[in-house]
Amino acid sequence: MSRFLTPTLESLQPYTPGEQPQDQPYIKLNTNENPYPPSPWVTEALNADETGRLRLYPDPACQNLLQAAATRYGLDPAQIMPGNGSDENLFFALRAFCDETHPVAYADVTYGCYKVWAGLMHIPSHVIPLEEDFTLDPVKYCALGETIIIANPNAPTGLALPRADIEMILRENPDNVVIVDEAYVDFGAESCVPLIRQYDNLLVVQTFSKSRSLAGARLGLAMGSEALIADLNRVKFSLNPYNINRLTLLAGAAALRDEEYFRRSCAAVAGTREWTARRLKELGFALTESRANFVFARTPRMEGGRLYRALRERGVLVRHFDAPRIADWLRITIGTPEQMSKLIETLEAIFAEEGPDHA
Ligand SMILES: *Cc1c(COP(=O)(O)O)cnc(C)c1O
Repeated sequence: MSRFLTPTLESLQPYTPGEQPQDQPYIKLNTNENPYPPSPWVTEALNADETGRLRLYPDPACQNLLQAAATRYGLDPAQIMPGNGSDENLFFALRAFCDETHPVAYADVTYGCYKVWAGLMHIPSHVIPLEEDFTLDPVKYCALGETIIIANPNAPTGLALPRADIEMILRENPDNVVIVDEAYVDFGAESCVPLIRQYDNLLVVQTFSKSRSLAGARLGLAMGSEALIADLNRVKFSLNPYNINRLTLLAGAAALRDEEYFRRSCAAVAGTREWTARRLKELGFALTESRANFVFARTPRMEGGRLYRALRERGVLVRHFDAPRIADWLRITIGTPEQMSKLIETLEAIFAEEGPDHA
């Protein structure tokens, strides 16, 4: 770092994205990408004519995309704002609703970016520990008087809250915004989008990175009351009015229209998740009840960091976090059935080399 960096940035620990090593071909199960390509309608939409139009700025109002999203979610376009990845939507929301004297509350084990953004923007964090089994007790989120962010399903545990629990939190915090990060909701949890008409303090954030196979396009949506969306647009138009590029606007609208493809690929991933969970249990792993496109697992046979390294040496990348509460756990993205079979075979080979289980 240079001698010019501010103390805030100097003391900040930036988010570490999952590694993308290039030294050998890996089975990549570490960043929760979708193993299937985006809808063929996306490929059709990104044609030579549209590439030629890249000389023009994109529509800052994102009208076509918003229309497709409004139709898909049963909302008004004024209740939706696209972001450059849902990360940007979440950042805009914290920028709009929190500051030095308006804290944000979130769980101790959850998406790591919340903490980083709070640090970057001098927002005090109120960290609320999950229960022993990683479940979230909604009672601990009642009458907080603070902005709240809940990832539902949570990352990296995959555990989901029923909509009724979030509804209680919304009801008990009428004067604060409750942000529900639904990055993984399409793989089998209950979305809070149907609550938007009833609760003006609800902001739902979804991403195209996981269930719509568009991680590389960078697109997310924030959905909430017209007034909340207007607040987010104040931030966007104060920072980067052209935050979504032309090709991504087209890709996103096409992906939203192909409901059939979306449903099939989510169902395929959820099916492979159940298969993987069964096989891991047969190998002696303990797993959380994941509703996401990953499983969260640990084995009594080997410490988490060691197993992560053993898998990596054999060409399988999974995610391991150093945080003490979850240091024994691995987050394993659901790939194709072939990739998951390879994962199971690799684990069997590692355990065979280790000798009999003395745990
Ligand atoms: C992947 C993820 C995001 C960010 O997704 P992008 O749209 O790719 O920025 C946000 N929240 C959680 C919990 C995630 O896992």
